[in-house]
Amino acid sequence: MLNLILFGPPGSGKGTQSEKIIQKYKLVHISTGDLLREEVANQTELGMKAKKIMDSGELVSDRIVIGMIRKKLEEHRAGPGFIFDGFPRTVAQARELRKALTDYDEEISVMISLDVPREELVKRLLNRGKETGRTDDNLETINNRIDVYEKQTIPVAHYYDKMRKYVPVDGMGSIDAIFKRIVKVIDQVK
Ligand code: ADP
Repeated sequence: MLNLILFGPPGSGKGTQSEKIIQKYKLVHISTGDLLREEVANQTELGMKAKKIMDSGELVSDRIVIGMIRKKLEEHRAGPGFIFDGFPRTVAQARELRKALTDYDEEISVMISLDVPREELVKRLLNRGKETGRTDDNLETINNRIDVYEKQTIPVAHYYDKMRKYVPVDGMGSIDAIFKRIVKVIDQVK
């Protein structure tokens, strides 16, 4: 199985690139952000709790997120592999992912990290807020999300770097140019 983590700050293009990667490599896409937004849209108890946290830019609890991931892994255990998008976001989540994958005799193949400067992130997210109405794409929440990323999520990159699985990719340029850089990395680990 090919198990990828697509990593990077909010607005770095993980969702956009995930779609292209799934098409080419037929992987199962697991976006914890999408899963949480689905809970919000369905007005589940979990969704109502998560919405407040998401609108502030903080992270939803590791326990909730890990629960969602374990369920997806079980559903697609016979599949071609996974692309994790927006997860793991804390070192605790990374450790739990490792344990969960080990249960299936699997491991992460590579973490691809999209590098994009902060000014560009803010610009893209404000733009997305205007176009989609996502309630967490306002200036105050955006700035908090990037701060949370720098404090709580960057350590996850070090975690995979220590295992020699971390590969940074330039996230600036056209969608296709960035995709080509990603394909190069995937084809090396496949
Ligand atoms: P972005 O990629 O723009 O940061 P996401 O759609 O991945 O946005 O996530 C939106 C929000 O959902 C996050 O700000 C956070 O509150 C919550 N969330 C998503 N994934 C996780 C996760 N793995 N752990 C904790 N919270 C998460």
